[in-house]
Amino acid sequence: MPRRNWAGNVRYSARAYHRPTSVDELRRLVAGSRRVRAVGSGHSFNRLGDTDGALVSLAGLPPEISIDRERRRVTVAAALRYGDVATHLHAEGWALANLASLPHISVAGAVATGTHGSGEGNGNLASAVAGLELVTADGDLLRVDRDADGDTFAGMVVNLGALGVVTRVTLDLVPAFEIRQYVHLDLPREELDPAFASAYSVSLFTDWRTPRINQVWRKQRAGQPAPPAGWLGTTAAGAPLHPVPGMPAENCTPQLGVPGPWHERLPHFRLGFTPSSGDELQSEYHVPRAAAAEVLAALDPIAHLIAPVLQICELRAVAADPLWLSPNHDRDSLAVHFTWIDDADAVLPVVAAVEERLAPWRPRPHWGKVFDMAPEQVAAAYPRYADFADLLRRMDPEGVFRTALLDRYFPR
Ligand SMILES: Cc1cc2nc3c(=O)[nH]c(=O)nc-3n(C[C@H](O)[C@H](O)[C@H](O)COP(=O)(O)OP(=O)(O)OC[C@H]3O[C@@H](n4cnc5c(N)ncnc54)[C@H](O)[C@@H]3O)c2cc1C
Repeated sequence: MPRRNWAGNVRYSARAYHRPTSVDELRRLVAGSRRVRAVGSGHSFNRLGDTDGALVSLAGLPPEISIDRERRRVTVAAALRYGDVATHLHAEGWALANLASLPHISVAGAVATGTHGSGEGNGNLASAVAGLELVTADGDLLRVDRDADGDTFAGMVVNLGALGVVTRVTLDLVPAFEIRQYVHLDLPREELDPAFASAYSVSLFTDWRTPRINQVWRKQRAGQPAPPAGWLGTTAAGAPLHPVPGMPAENCTPQLGVPGPWHERLPHFRLGFTPSSGDELQSEYHVPRAAAAEVLAALDPIAHLIAPVLQICELRAVAADPLWLSPNHDRDSLAVHFTWIDDADAVLPVVAAVEERLAPWRPRPHWGKVFDMAPEQVAAAYPRYADFADLLRRMDPEGVFRTALLDRYFPR
């Protein structure tokens, strides 16, 4: 098992590493641990999951994928990667409503941090969760279901890995569908709203060196007509592109409007290839979708600080959901993402400047990326924060799943 996260900026502090091969073995392990924590595919950029006890990977558990056609749901082993689940589902005629920019991440790890893709009508990946099975602090196996467990269930889905080790996740299905991906260059910023509204999933990329959006990635339903020449004042890309300058387009999903299955178009990056740049840090903040123009204008005065430490900035739209700790809780959101250079000393002061500029919109940081907001500020952005803190105390009174970062944001 790797001793560092994918980006290499976090060296895990765990004293022991385990890879159980059955849920019973996992239960014994958790029951016998003073401190334990699950790790997924290690694609987070912060120490949320960094325990000083035992780190446990579920990659040795059977890779179950079981489809319930009647209820349009699939139950999957927690450690499976979205990309592997998607390939199986597509072969059976099914799809997930949305995916993140990369298919390499584990289902439970992505859900735990509120990972998302884009699309004004699409919730984040956690919003598709219909059920969870988890090993709780005392080693018991708990199953919760969206229909049966209502509001508490809404508190348990985006769980920051803090309520237990998730062993199975049940997800909503939709029939398989096809997508065409088009990339457009140089969108005037004032066309942001029509651009977001123009397709199933839209991502806007900007380098903060000019007020224009450098690239628009439109993932439209295959049956929707192709965009006209000069769409919203842009130029159509003549060849496949990578959103990060200098990186090979080969790493990316097919573009130029070639139709293809949902799971080979909704992510930007291909399974089996390096996602993003591979040498980077990331931060991301969710703000109200309706405030997009003001939020970008608020960042303009620090564009000269952002640009030198930035590889690329991505803007996405995410629909509201009821999940307590979802960055999209009860709020249609604009997700403002930064792929920084891999230099924490240079990046952290800029992260602080971004957080200060975004403060009026009660930004909600991505739970799996680099952020340093004051705990009171994060708490104030979430109406159900205190409820989650209570749930945490009830489900894990001894702090078995606690980490230093979790303690900072949810003091005991
Ligand atoms: C190149 C790149 C691109 C990215 N693109 C996106 C994107 O498009 N959208 C987005 O929102 N995010 C994105 N991310 C962030 C990423 O999706 C999240 O950090 C996600 O949590 C990673 O999943 P993971 O399986 O690697 O989890 P890990 O980083 O391994 O773990 C994350 C948290 O989940 C907990 N956890 C893991 N497994 C379990 C389990 N079985 N039970 C309980 N808790 C568990 C861990 O303890 C930890 O706290 C990207 C990251 C990278 C590196």
